[in-house]
Amino acid sequence: MADVYNKAKRSEIMSKIKGKHTSPEIRLVLLLKELGLKPQQHRKDLPGCPDAVLFRKKIVLFVNGCFWHGHKNCSRASLPNTNRVFWQTKIEKNIRRDASQCRKLRKRGWHVLTFWTCKPLTRTILTSRLRRYIS
Ligand SMILES: [Zn+2]
Repeated sequence: MADVYNKAKRSEIMSKIKGKHTSPEIRLVLLLKELGLKPQQHRKDLPGCPDAVLFRKKIVLFVNGCFWHGHKNCSRASLPNTNRVFWQTKIEKNIRRDASQCRKLRKRGWHVLTFWTCKPLTRTILTSRLRRYIS
């Protein structure tokens, strides 16, 4: 279907959308749609408010920022030299919260897929991670 907006209007709309979402999140949703899936977003009723939810397939997907979520052995997750204790405490708290949300989701029967922003998400990566759960 042709876009109902002209190029300038569309780009204005898209830039407004960008402010609300982080762009890796948009990428994830677009890729899922490309694969013919129907992702839902902002399901606040689910632990951790996943970035995308495939409701019927019982799959939740997260795109985690390496720093805030403390990606293990990742250069993007290294702590700043100032206020080190503060940052360490904060990030460790986030890691514990992520783990607890993940446990809650799995207990409710959800498959949890986590992606990290240090690795650009591609269709190939997404497809291979989904293959386990989608035939
Ligand atoms: Zn990382």
